[in-house]
Amino acid sequence: MPVNKKKPVTFRSFKAPRYVTDKLRICRRCGRYTALGEERCGKCGSASLIPVEKQATALAGRKMHTRLLFLLLLTLGSVYFGQSLEQMVLCGAGGIVLAGLFYYTQRKVRQNENLYALNALLGKSIDKVWDGLEINRQEAVSVLRENDVLAYEKLREISILLRGDRIARQRVALLHGFQLRKDMYLELEQLLLKDFEPLLAEYIGEIAKVRPDLIKDRTLRYVKAYEVQILEMNNGVAILTGVAGAAVRLKRYALLYSGMLGRYLEDLPRDRFLRLSKMIAASPYEAWNGLDLRVAEVREAKYRWDPDF
Ligand SMILES: [Zn+2]
Repeated sequence: MPVNKKKPVTFRSFKAPRYVTDKLRICRRCGRYTALGEERCGKCGSASLIPVEKQATALAGRKMHTRLLFLLLLTLGSVYFGQSLEQMVLCGAGGIVLAGLFYYTQRKVRQNENLYALNALLGKSIDKVWDGLEINRQEAVSVLRENDVLAYEKLREISILLRGDRIARQRVALLHGFQLRKDMYLELEQLLLKDFEPLLAEYIGEIAKVRPDLIKDRTLRYVKAYEVQILEMNNGVAILTGVAGAAVRLKRYALLYSGMLGRYLEDLPRDRFLRLSKMIAASPYEAWNGLDLRVAEVREAKYRWDPDF
């Protein structure tokens, strides 16, 4: 698809959460989990969705109150069965001191208790969490025809929790229809698949143009692994040249992927080639694996009269 057929879009602002569980909410009524921002539960329709963290805190609080109540009951019992007034007073006072101490220490360890409760809650209901996320994914796919941007945004939110090739593949397919811009919230590493996918290769090529800083080790490994398949694509050489141009950002990449870079030097933009050329000149004793010789050849052929080289 030529670039001009792609749709210009704007994504809603998006901030990756600090913890993956920050995005997860549970319905207090029916117990359904969701990673989307809807107001009402998709299963029972009630507006009782709360963050899982909150639910865990409530559970931990309930547990603590039960323990405290138990302690107070024990105290009351011991007072009731006391043999003398002195014993009764002592038991009562002891119980109250204990309960106070218990309350105080519980408050101190509350943070840990909450975390523990969150862990236990998610561990216990992991199947329900997956079910909820799968329903979320289907919801996103169901709006795909009317509103592909909304579908993409939904998938982006779900994919924080739901990793895997299926969701990444769907996102790549949607991104294929959009015009990418520098100012968009774009991802790459999260979208890498296990197998070769031409749409993903094209996406990598587009990213190399607008956000070369997103091209990192994992992407370079992917491109290297499927170099042959990419070359069979119509714009394969352009994609690989773009990636090579992004890779010369860092000397580490240039060294690690020297073989691959060497194959796409001819079409490398002048500024990229100049950068690589200077990089090699600055560290002539690194293990360039012949890349230095290839660069010298291309320099001789293309930039012989260029004063910058
Ligand atoms: Zn519900």
